[in-house]
Amino acid sequence: MPTAHLPTTPPSPEPLILLGAALIDGTGAAPVEDSEIEISDGRIVYAGPRRGGTPTRSDVRTVDLSGSTILPGFIDAHVHLGLSIEDQQADAARFDSERTLRTALNARRTLLAGVTTARDLGGIDRGIRDAIVAGLIHGPRLHLAVSALSPTGGHTDFTLPNGRAVPMPMPVHPIIDTDDDVRRTVRLLIRGGADVIKICTTGGVSSPSDTPDDLGVPEEHVRLIVSETAKRAGQPVAAHAQGAEGIKAAIRGGVRSVEHGYGIDDEGIDLMLENGTFLVPTLSSALRVPDPDRVPAYLYEKKVKWSAIARERIAAAFAAGVRVALGTDAGVCPHGENLREPVHAVELGLSPMQAIVAGTKNAAELLRLDDDLGTLEAGKLADLIVCDFDPLTDITPLARPDNVRAVIQGGTVVKDTAARFGPEPHRPRLAE
Ligand SMILES: [Zn+2]
Repeated sequence: MPTAHLPTTPPSPEPLILLGAALIDGTGAAPVEDSEIEISDGRIVYAGPRRGGTPTRSDVRTVDLSGSTILPGFIDAHVHLGLSIEDQQADAARFDSERTLRTALNARRTLLAGVTTARDLGGIDRGIRDAIVAGLIHGPRLHLAVSALSPTGGHTDFTLPNGRAVPMPMPVHPIIDTDDDVRRTVRLLIRGGADVIKICTTGGVSSPSDTPDDLGVPEEHVRLIVSETAKRAGQPVAAHAQGAEGIKAAIRGGVRSVEHGYGIDDEGIDLMLENGTFLVPTLSSALRVPDPDRVPAYLYEKKVKWSAIARERIAAAFAAGVRVALGTDAGVCPHGENLREPVHAVELGLSPMQAIVAGTKNAAELLRLDDDLGTLEAGKLADLIVCDFDPLTDITPLARPDNVRAVIQGGTVVKDTAARFGPEPHRPRLAE
């Protein structure tokens, strides 16, 4: 059985015991009110009710987190760390070196918002992923699509009607029209380190010459891509799909996730349930109408229309019980406010617990990283966040990154605004 690449991060050398917090472990089980978590070599040794007695190891740092809540580090299944859509014009004039540094800043902001793993669905190469693994920069563990694919004139063809191209960095040329284009492009992406293949089976809101109702990559090409990845590591296929027909083409072609899904109809919902397809509804972007002065008029107009559609149809998909994994489309919305997504998911009908599970356990399953991530259980990587409120009573404070008081990734404390974890080696540090 092919497995997914697990991006590791440098683990802390010092073991840690967290005592007294309410523990929401990401499995959907009721919280453990007075919990204990033991972490060693970057992994969880124990997570459950406080064990009592004296610790078996004297070298363990014990941190009292009474009054706080611990949750798994969130997984944002849809980001574009190299993109800031309201800054596109300025970005076109930047040198590559500055663009890379800005991407690193976006990665750091995403991590500090409480996202310890993310899936970048187009716009960056594996250098960013590997720099995080090496401890050169702070950021979420990353899975990458490298580029997002569409036919000529489709969602990732940023050529204007006059033939001039709007600069839209995609490390591998993203246009696929023929069977040969499809095979060669998928091979190039996998050679370049793609963990997931991102395709667009519909047009979109942010592209100049198509709409979400237009069809993009056809069902037969979706099938061809799925059969190509099956010969490799079984990289999942994620489909940008907004209008009802393109959503159904993606599901019938065998994608693992429908990204956006704004206009999904009842037949599409049934197909998702039958096939176990994940929905990544990107509500942070769907429900956010951008500043009309900072984006093109076509984008603003389409956004107003499709926000209303998404509000109604995503709520219907939630009510029907489709598998949901959270993703923001950050880059289209601002970076570093990723935990606004579970708040929006609750607005459209998920319970706070369902929204948390969608952003942790379910997203780990989507990425095929659930052996190591997504829940706080013995044996898993110690990726977790600490907050000072009960998100099951009111989830809205999660939307503000300041309310995420601590972030631990692979047992290393990378954020500690309440200064509970003491000095080095549990302070944020980068490779030397
Ligand atoms: Zn996207």
